[in-house]
Amino acid sequence: MNLILLGAPGAGKGTQAEAISEALNIPQISTGNMLREAVKNGTEYGLKAKAVMEAGGLVSDDIVVNILKDRIAQDDAQNGFILDGFPRTVPQAEALDEMGVRIDKVVEIFVPDETIKERVSGRRVCEGCGASYHVQYKPSKTDGVCDKCGAKTVIRKDDQPETVISRLETYHKETEPIKAYYEKQGKLETVIGQEEVADTKKLTLQAVGAEIA
Ligand code: ADP
Ligand code: ZN
Repeated sequence: MNLILLGAPGAGKGTQAEAISEALNIPQISTGNMLREAVKNGTEYGLKAKAVMEAGGLVSDDIVVNILKDRIAQDDAQNGFILDGFPRTVPQAEALDEMGVRIDKVVEIFVPDETIKERVSGRRVCEGCGASYHVQYKPSKTDGVCDKCGAKTVIRKDDQPETVISRLETYHKETEPIKAYYEKQGKLETVIGQEEVADTKKLTLQAVGAEIA
């Protein structure tokens, strides 16, 4: 099954993508994580992406489409995948169609902007493997340490309040039009983000037809 998870920055896409990935045994493909990795490694893409990401803007469609193309060509993605953070613009959605990638379902996690602004301040991400946590809603077992790999969890540079506001603007302007694109294809399903991660998880897994763990 090829899935797309849509949602504003901080809506909890990453967390839900991890849940779906485990439930359906398909890889979670996060362009945000791949870009952060590229920045960390100082690759050519990374150098181009760094400033844009820190300012809360979008990396060019060209770069992201290329990164994604390589990733979905890998062995572990041949029986399905869940895209987290891609597509983020209508041209990126069109690029998927042009690649001949068939998408089965698009799940939107809806959370109001005000709630997002509150939430993002508690977000932490692992420096090592990119796993995401929240000090209140999804804490790691040991404060500041990743459950999965033991590396340090930190606040992302782009989680600063001013940056969050511009990321939300970018989302409404560039990414939301994708909803109409997939609605026309009859693939869009909206899940209302709940206060408890477990409740959102239940609804998200239902939306993709996965058993509840
Ligand atoms: P979030 O969903 O929490 O905003 P992500 O980890 O998905 O964060 O992405 C972080 C940043 O990486 C984005 O703000 C953007 O600059 C860049 N990025 C990730 N995916 C894409 C994409 N598909 N197109 C353009 N830029 C992207
Ligand atoms: Zn980790």
